[in-house]
Amino acid sequence: MIKRRIYSPGPVEVSPDTALEMARPILHHRTGEFEAIIAEVVEGLKFVFQTRGDVLLFASSGTGAMEGAVTNLLNPGDKALCVVGGKFGQRWSQLVSRFGALPVNIDVPWGKAVNPDDVARALEADPVIKAVYIQACETSTGVAHPVRDVARIVRGHENTVLVVDAISAVGVMNLPADDWGLDVVVGGSQKAWQLPPGLAFASVSPKAWKLVDQCVQPRFYFDWKTEKKSIGKNTTAYTPAVSLIMGLRKVLADIREEGLESLFSRAALYARMFRAAMEALGLGLFAPDSPSDSITAVCSPEGMDARKVVRHLSEKYHITIAAGQDQIKETVFRVSHMGYLDGLDMITAVAAVEITLKDLGWNVELGAGVKKAQEILTNA
Ligand SMILES: *Cc1c(COP(=O)(O)O)cnc(C)c1O
Repeated sequence: MIKRRIYSPGPVEVSPDTALEMARPILHHRTGEFEAIIAEVVEGLKFVFQTRGDVLLFASSGTGAMEGAVTNLLNPGDKALCVVGGKFGQRWSQLVSRFGALPVNIDVPWGKAVNPDDVARALEADPVIKAVYIQACETSTGVAHPVRDVARIVRGHENTVLVVDAISAVGVMNLPADDWGLDVVVGGSQKAWQLPPGLAFASVSPKAWKLVDQCVQPRFYFDWKTEKKSIGKNTTAYTPAVSLIMGLRKVLADIREEGLESLFSRAALYARMFRAAMEALGLGLFAPDSPSDSITAVCSPEGMDARKVVRHLSEKYHITIAAGQDQIKETVFRVSHMGYLDGLDMITAVAAVEITLKDLGWNVELGAGVKKAQEILTNA
């Protein structure tokens, strides 16, 4: 019997209580009983997205909600500003151009956060830009972009909306949609929601609905107006992922019980423990200036292929983490602080990295990272 542990930046560990909820007998979705569940879940989502606006849910991976955030907002020929600082920023730009709109990219070096002044300048230079697309956490690099500052800029442009891919952020990081003016916030179940893959979320502000009303882009499954009508009647337009939604109800109840402040500060604590532990081992962080709380990208020791670290952790210790992608796949490994985990789980991850590096021949002082993580946990 092998005990497996998952610290990948999606999918993440699911709690046994949530798993049990999802094992309950299937409810039919066109029943009063399930409508009550949808009503409860939508209220819970609004609580976490911190909005009085609409939150829609979809049976898809996170990218489905990203696609909807393009096909419901942009007409062919519209211009959209895309912050491109990693794989997922690239995805925004690809989606925008695939649907015939025109991406204006702000290219940010991988591992760095966007400078909000660059967004301000781009919007002033090109006032017809309809939307700004950004990540709250660029999962491929571990960077947290300054979403709040960018939102302040976009709010000053009456005809421009801000769309935040928060698939690895909403649920772990504080992103108050209404307070900050985040017009669309996209989330996904297998990252920050401690659930299996298969659900995507999008909050939509009144400012964004204006664009939706003007949008003639062909769309069907991800038609937000159709979903808004359905959600108003506590249902979804098409068959919802019933079991995942039962799990979501449990997660949302747990979040309400814990409170948002505690939820966010726990993720921040785990990230702080992990970063400090890696530095205590002499490892560099890939995004030291603007690290996210949901995932940490660590530079592999000089000359040690990060994919080898990932493989060894998996094969010898049955721990799943992720390597970097594209040009950083050999130099960076990534460990998540999302999902059903606690401080001791984080210490386990640190310990596993230590012994793996030692197994692979790096001169590491066993316990140096663990000690640092313990100190931070005990002082928290
Ligand atoms: C994982 C991720 C995505 C893609 O989500 P899928 O569920 O794989 O479609 C998009 N953006 C970010 C920031 C992510 O972390």
